[in-house]
Amino acid sequence: MDEISSLLVSHSDCLLHDMGDMHPESPARLNAIQRRIESSDYYSQLNICEAPLINLEILSKVHPKHHIEALLELSPDEGLVSVEADTCMNPHSLDAAMRAAGAAVYATEQVLAGKANNAFCAVRPPGHHAESALSMGFCLFNNVALAAERALASGVARVAIIDFDVHHGNGTVGYLKIGRKCWCVLVFNFLFIRGVLIVSRRKIFV
Ligand SMILES: [Zn+2]
Repeated sequence: MDEISSLLVSHSDCLLHDMGDMHPESPARLNAIQRRIESSDYYSQLNICEAPLINLEILSKVHPKHHIEALLELSPDEGLVSVEADTCMNPHSLDAAMRAAGAAVYATEQVLAGKANNAFCAVRPPGHHAESALSMGFCLFNNVALAAERALASGVARVAIIDFDVHHGNGTVGYLKIGRKCWCVLVFNFLFIRGVLIVSRRKIFV
């Protein structure tokens, strides 16, 4: 395999999701990531792709259809609507979330198909707080759970998820609880106490 086949997946829709000037999960976060990547010596070697919208059938492998339909219904034509205390949607948020989830699934497919050695998805909103039927913590859909689901559906024996955030990755842990062959390491900092939790499920390496 070509040693320069690293994939960068992103989409301009992810910059249009905006929860307000004071919200910490802002387009500036993605702009900063993109600036850093573009200044890298390796930037010219990246294979850059636009994130596709996630297929609704694939999305429903992790999120029940009633939950997806509720978010579609809630998506505003203008202004902001609250999803929960920390999360809201503007008219572009749903497309951004579907691009973010689509990026994770697409990147997984490309690596599994041998078309890339590895991939990085520069997308937002994030995903690891999103539970199966509950969007929360700035997250609408659980991007990494969808990627893991796609990998497992392709026949890989098991998946490792390395999760790091200031918070515990509740949504991803919830996904593991339903018996997926995943191993997950969570590194988080909660209430300013550094914490490391290793989660392993009995059914992982069967
Ligand atoms: Zn968080």
